[in-house]
Amino acid sequence: SIVVTGATGNLGRHVVEQLLEKVPAEQITAVVRSAEKAADFADRGVRIALADYNAPASFDGLFSAGDKVLLVSGNEFDKGRVQQHKAVIDAAAAAGVALVAYTSAPGTLTAALADDHRGTEEILLGSGVPYALLRNGWYHENYTENLAPVLEHNAVVAAAGEGKVSSASRADYAAAAVAVLTGEGHENKTYELGGDTSWSFAEYAAELSRQTGKDIAYNAVSPEALAGILTGAGLPEPLAQTLAGVDASIEKGELVVSTGDLSRLAGRPTTPLADAIAAALKD
Ligand code: NDP
Repeated sequence: SIVVTGATGNLGRHVVEQLLEKVPAEQITAVVRSAEKAADFADRGVRIALADYNAPASFDGLFSAGDKVLLVSGNEFDKGRVQQHKAVIDAAAAAGVALVAYTSAPGTLTAALADDHRGTEEILLGSGVPYALLRNGWYHENYTENLAPVLEHNAVVAAAGEGKVSSASRADYAAAAVAVLTGEGHENKTYELGGDTSWSFAEYAAELSRQTGKDIAYNAVSPEALAGILTGAGLPEPLAQTLAGVDASIEKGELVVSTGDLSRLAGRPTTPLADAIAAALKD
């Protein structure tokens, strides 16, 4: 069957929804921490498996030979994500699965955030399991789900200078994952995934201005200043530093992915940022 971890997360939900359009529900297993959170999937016939990346034994016997597995990277930055992911990879290798696809980060990304992904890739390649690296670029939603302070202050604050980002929607990345899980010939392939178009923060501010009728400016600050603003807004210091580091990478062009892999796998153009903004403003 097709097994999706992190199935009740934002990306995982898109993947399961899109899988349901392509394969019978009983061929899909959603790996979740909370059966309650997955009740809607169970109602539709998706198989539910309970497991936690922090409890390696919870993955014993979960996979079967021939399964195709999507390992969605975790979000517990302080819990040793490489070891967490290793628990899943070890169990998948022991079962003899046909594929482990892993949601990684662009190969160009040097920000600290990428370290867990590089570490996981190394373990996956060393495991001998057929793999597919889905090196996901940035989500539109990283920005469009955080519009409240932008609209309050009429300012986009970032430490990315004139750097650009080729983001795409979670649904786009999910479509690429579904193509890999349901298609053939993706063994031992690395995909660099990003949106078809890249944009600068000045362009982002201009598009927000156009759609809201307000005058929204781009306020470019230093990474140090951004980290200070974020901690001031209540973010923990390590997370603020991580996000400031990402902006520094953006300024260097590390989040522009121009391979075309994403639209090629999805079989359609990626979602324009303007559409994601419009959808967010409607909510
Ligand atoms: P979410 O935070 O919505 O989902 C994370 C998923 O990981 C959830 O399903 C969560 O389970 C699961 N998870 C976390 N810890 C564990 C654990 N210990 N055991 C089992 N499951 C666990 O993130 P998204 O879906 O939006 O993105 C997927 C991943 O992509 C993120 O986790 C992160 O690694 C990365 N990411 C990428 C970004 C990008 O722009 N490319 C931006 C942000 C994150 P539960 O549902 O129970 O909480």
